[in-house]
Amino acid sequence: AKERGRGNWLRYADGMERPASAHARLGGDLRRALDEGEFRIVYQPIVSLDDGGIVGVEALVRWEHPDRGLVSPADFIPAAERTGLIVPLGRWVLRETCRQAAAWLAEFGPDVLEKAAPNVSVRQLHDPDFVADVAAALADSGLPPHRLVLELTESAVLRGQHVSRVLHELHDMGVRLALDDFGTGESSLSLLRAFPAAIVKLDKSFVDGIELDEPDTPAAHARQAVARAVAQLADALGLETVAEGIENQVQADRLLRLGYHVGQGYHLGRPMPPERLTEIFAARRVR
Ligand code: C2E
Ligand code: CA
Ligand code: CA
Ligand code: CA
Repeated sequence: AKERGRGNWLRYADGMERPASAHARLGGDLRRALDEGEFRIVYQPIVSLDDGGIVGVEALVRWEHPDRGLVSPADFIPAAERTGLIVPLGRWVLRETCRQAAAWLAEFGPDVLEKAAPNVSVRQLHDPDFVADVAAALADSGLPPHRLVLELTESAVLRGQHVSRVLHELHDMGVRLALDDFGTGESSLSLLRAFPAAIVKLDKSFVDGIELDEPDTPAAHARQAVARAVAQLADALGLETVAEGIENQVQADRLLRLGYHVGQGYHLGRPMPPERLTEIFAARRVR
């Protein structure tokens, strides 16, 4: 649930009042939250559309504020990016996700969980320590590199030579890269040539309405055509695909027919605390 408009700091953060001091205040608040351990990670299953098995989890950060309750990332990630706090916050998300994934793998094995995927902001890619941080998170947790997927948006990846070198270093380490929100950027196709991606995540905007039998508008028809074309292109390039934001079974069936074998969305599993996933994995463990 969106928490928009609950506290004054949100109005300030939107720039409606005293933006400079509000900016500083939210930045300071985020710093304090990180120091106080107020961030949590929820994990959303990434699911085989063929057999319903969980093939991975996406790590999504939450802020459990003492007064404001659970704050959505949409309400604080932009501020964390502006202030630079996304670098230490993202480092924490990376380390914690590797630790949790390694613990699940040790307990349940790779038949129950293949990989874990935190989100990475462009600011992190420009941090000179980023590649070393990833290597340390893997080494300290014992998570094998190919079980880590870093989710990056197209806009993050388009930023020039330095980012390109970082991405190739990660690729060479064996870490897998996913292009998030695919299809929403300006140069999705040319990007696929230059970027060492393993996974393409079809944006939810192409999944919305895809279940309609007679696409009633040219836009709806185009969404289906794009979804099908992205699946075929990914296939031809040897990339895996994930269809995002699946909210009902008709969408899941339709996407399977369009060539998607893996999906994510409320219909397949909500983001949930790690304890809940541990219960699910325990119930699925083959004895
Ligand atoms: P995203 O990476 O595209 O993540 C998917 C978002 O869609 C998540 O929202 C997820 O809860 C939501 N979602 C999943 N299935 C469905 C569905 O069936 N229907 C609908 N309506 N929504 C669905 P969330 O957790 O609020 O995160 C929003 C965005 O915040 C993420 O979008 C990502 O860009 C960013 N974010 C979250 N955690 C992190 C993080 O640790 N670091 C960074 N840099 N960004 C993060
Ligand atoms: Ca993502
Ligand atoms: Ca996405
Ligand atoms: Ca998104």
